[in-house]
Amino acid sequence: MADAAATAKMQELDLIADADARARNYLATLDIRPPFPDQAARDGLAAFAEPISEHGRDAADTLRLLDLHGSSATTGSNGPRYFGFVIGAALPAAAAAERLMLAWDQCASSYDNSPVAATVEKIAGDWLLDVLDLPRESGVGFGTSATACTLACLSAARRSLLDRQGWNFDRNGLHGSPEIKVVVSESVHITVKKALRLLGFGMGRLIVAPTDPQGRIDPARLPALDDHTILCLQAGEVNTGEFDPFEPLIEAARRAGAWVHIDGAFGLWARASSRRPLTEGVDRADSWTTDGHKWLNTPYDGAVAICRDATALAEAMNADAAYSSASKDAQKNLTLEFSRRACGIPIWAALRTLGRRGVAELVDRHCDEAAWLADRLRSNGFDVLNRVPLNQVLVRYQDDEGTARVRQSVLESDAGWFGTTIWQGRPAFRISISSWRTQHEDVVRLAEALTRAAVG
Ligand SMILES: *Cc1c(COP(=O)(O)O)cnc(C)c1O
Repeated sequence: MADAAATAKMQELDLIADADARARNYLATLDIRPPFPDQAARDGLAAFAEPISEHGRDAADTLRLLDLHGSSATTGSNGPRYFGFVIGAALPAAAAAERLMLAWDQCASSYDNSPVAATVEKIAGDWLLDVLDLPRESGVGFGTSATACTLACLSAARRSLLDRQGWNFDRNGLHGSPEIKVVVSESVHITVKKALRLLGFGMGRLIVAPTDPQGRIDPARLPALDDHTILCLQAGEVNTGEFDPFEPLIEAARRAGAWVHIDGAFGLWARASSRRPLTEGVDRADSWTTDGHKWLNTPYDGAVAICRDATALAEAMNADAAYSSASKDAQKNLTLEFSRRACGIPIWAALRTLGRRGVAELVDRHCDEAAWLADRLRSNGFDVLNRVPLNQVLVRYQDDEGTARVRQSVLESDAGWFGTTIWQGRPAFRISISSWRTQHEDVVRLAEALTRAAVG
């Protein structure tokens, strides 16, 4: 029996070592991998189409299959030439912390379930408030995504506004409750709408605030607000990288007694850099969401819900039970999840190794590269459609056909991958610079490929 246990332990350690070796090889070859897998690699995915086995299969073989046909069918989102969305790569310290966490396998719901997770996530939360310069008394929940964190913040928002009207939401729900109105930007992110829809705010009842040509809410045309309104603002519009003018908008909301929520999935990080003036006044809002897994370059499932009234978030998200009660700032009482991994730990590792200066440099470098790329493209005959205040470059080449042709040609050259969008009714493409791995030479290579494609 003791022998069997020793053998099983050896097998486990060998398997983990094999996974580490394969991961090491993947990372070592990242720079020469294409930003998007070719057809042959994608065809290889057919190898996964096997029936579920009756008695299970060998673990080492399972890993071999995953590496053989999986590693080659990845996008290069952890590499230097991925310019799609705002994805970010995984910083070494954050990725390494994540690996160690996997060995721990903690259920990071409360101190009793994991003293280390509760302690480190608390510190990560304090550091986030510090580096983003948001109210230090805020509650901080670490969730799987900005989508989930927005849902948490908006739940707290509605519950608080109803409470101020004397309505007990937890007991009475919404049936017969006073109506809570929601004002969103014309360019609101789809996931904020998703969160609102899930919460029962009908899409047909959202009040839309008109934007200017760069996608920012125009304060002069802000719909009327009152003390049963949630106003959703944006730090970092996905096409233009623009910010709503927080000072006048939040001032209007404060006067009306409305709740202000900020979607800052990537853009809020500008506040930690020399681009901070873009975020002026954002700290007067009531709640904020941002991601670690985008611009901070931490692994996925790392996002943050921040609520000025820590108690409001803790009450809205509370999941205490007789067998599982915990302090109000236990993570299970601040996020949607009950059982959860410690998503705040890779964020802590990123912040600890970058420091305040390192975060600023990461963000500033990407913004500088975006500005350089925009200049280069403009002088080579492209239409850059945004002011490029941040890390997003929104581009067209001549007409719709030219725009599509240039993009396709660059994608085939492996100089980079980036996506398309519709901006003001017409197709464009969107180049985001958000990976710590992207160097100036990668951006130069992209600019050259675009220019070559245009000249045709
Ligand atoms: C990505 C994004 C979101 C959603 O974030 P997830 O972490 O992917 O859920 C919300 N708002 C903006 C502006 C985004 O860019």
